[in-house]
Amino acid sequence: MTSDARPAPVKDSAPVGFQEHDHQTCVETALASVEARCSTEGLRLTPVRRKVLEMLLQEHRALGAYAILDRLRAEGFGSQPPVAYRALDFLVQNGFVHKIERLNAFVACSHPGQSHSPAFMICRKCDAVAEAQSAPAKGVLGAAARAAGFEIERTVVEAEGLCPDCTEKA
Ligand SMILES: [Zn+2]
Ligand SMILES: [Zn+2]
Ligand SMILES: [Zn+2]
Repeated sequence: MTSDARPAPVKDSAPVGFQEHDHQTCVETALASVEARCSTEGLRLTPVRRKVLEMLLQEHRALGAYAILDRLRAEGFGSQPPVAYRALDFLVQNGFVHKIERLNAFVACSHPGQSHSPAFMICRKCDAVAEAQSAPAKGVLGAAARAAGFEIERTVVEAEGLCPDCTEKA
């Protein structure tokens, strides 16, 4: 990994997931694990794809395609929407980024490289998003599916509510 001389944008006010954590390490670890997977699987992590992933990793919050495009433009990556959409397609297809249907926006995966069914907790006040694992084949839905002879391949779990920060402020 090349170390970029520019300091990462520091946003003290930004929510860093639902728990206090070492966000710098969190971003670096996630980037490193994506880079490792790209090199073992021969995926091309182009500068623009990497930039989009980095933006999302910085946030722990869902960003819409237009917000991403704005930032890309500001960073000199061009302003054509396909630039952002193609990068997002690549990141979503490879499981590095998830789409939050509810918000029509994107978040970086919290554990890229593992195959998993994500369950999202979305704060309705600040748009912070935390990712948990769901087990679609278990629980009530799994039982209902088995009774119906249905095999679940994918579920989308998006819970809306208040994050700990916003609960405190309320
Ligand atoms: Zn973090
Ligand atoms: Zn994930
Ligand atoms: Zn919140």
